[in-house]
Amino acid sequence: MARPSTDGRYAPSPTGDLHIGNLRTALAAWCMARAGGGRFVLRIDDLDPDRLRPGSAERQLADLAALGIDWDGEPLVQSSQRPHHEAALERLTGAGLTYPCFCTRADIRAAASAPHGAQADGAYAGTCRHLSADDVAQRIAGGAAHAVRVRAGSAEVSVEDQLLGTISGVVDDFVVRRKDGVPAYNLATVVDDAAQGVAQVVRGADLAETTPRQAWLAQQLGLAPVRYAHVPIVRGVDGSRLAKRHGAVTLADLAQRGLTAADVRRLLAESLGITGVRGAEPTPEALVAAFDADRVPRADQMVDPVRFSSDVGWPDVQPL
Ligand code: GLU
Repeated sequence: MARPSTDGRYAPSPTGDLHIGNLRTALAAWCMARAGGGRFVLRIDDLDPDRLRPGSAERQLADLAALGIDWDGEPLVQSSQRPHHEAALERLTGAGLTYPCFCTRADIRAAASAPHGAQADGAYAGTCRHLSADDVAQRIAGGAAHAVRVRAGSAEVSVEDQLLGTISGVVDDFVVRRKDGVPAYNLATVVDDAAQGVAQVVRGADLAETTPRQAWLAQQLGLAPVRYAHVPIVRGVDGSRLAKRHGAVTLADLAQRGLTAADVRRLLAESLGITGVRGAEPTPEALVAAFDADRVPRADQMVDPVRFSSDVGWPDVQPL
């Protein structure tokens, strides 16, 4: 029987330098792709103009390369894919699966505080789902901006995640095009993963909650389902997601403290459960050979990056 493809990807947003939590996820994604003989591609998620930081995409690629991560072909720049995102939107609209939504953030917050049955917290309550065509036309003529939402019909979706087990969710009417006209993350990621031939999505567990929506969307768009593996994330000692304020979190910060990229590669390898690397200087190829998804810790990890040094190991896992 043919082995399922491990063609994988890493898709950073160029909003700043990658920190060791991001780099750890990238290393896991790369090892999982390469260990199965798969291709590995990059995508630059630059759709959100407000969050872009000039120069950060280049620095992110340089940091990945410094760790020994290589990729096939040129990175896909997400903003170049707008025509494909629009085509997918048209397909959904043609199938009667979208509607305009005029809600403001305050409207959504107010509606979300009312009970809404099976929907998860924060799910869209469906306020604009049943607006009449006249009402919609009037609001648009009056200059009201609108997002576009899908009609997901509270579909119940379960996905088998290679690391987290079953991820289940009730899919709400989520946004596929934002009020500013930008394709929404869930739409763009599903369309672009398919365009790049991605078969296996490995990313941070903070994105696990988006998976039922994305699996549902792929199905509506007639795209092949992908396999998912969500890697538990790295947190600072205060338990919050790793960020600049936690100290030496980027390769450049760590270099200032005397850690080479090879030192960081070894620490991250250790953190991913790759054995036999403590005290060694493993090559990227050695990591791929030794990688075992079953050994990747299943809990988020807390670290104090300012305490890293070239001769200590990754701190013991401290489940939260
Ligand atoms: N660009 C997204 C992020 O950096 C990740 C998208 C994905 O992996 O699906 O959070």
